[in-house]
Amino acid sequence: MTDVFDSAQEREAELLADALRDQARRAGLSDKSIADSAEHCQVCEKAIPEARRRALPGVQTCVACQQELEHGLRRAAR
Ligand SMILES: [Zn+2]
Repeated sequence: MTDVFDSAQEREAELLADALRDQARRAGLSDKSIADSAEHCQVCEKAIPEARRRALPGVQTCVACQQELEHGLRRAAR
């Protein structure tokens, strides 16, 4: 039961990592703007605070999901 859950989560993290890398590439090429930031987390759909969107133009996830994602990236890098 937890195996299924874990692998689904990891696959989702991989997809998100790809999306974020793509997004980061685009963000580097274009003017950074808060307009590129998601108003709601792409993972959990919670609202992303405006301060976070300003601090991280193009951000697509809330703090908690970003941390989850980074954990996933570290695991995938091994
Ligand atoms: Zn989230």
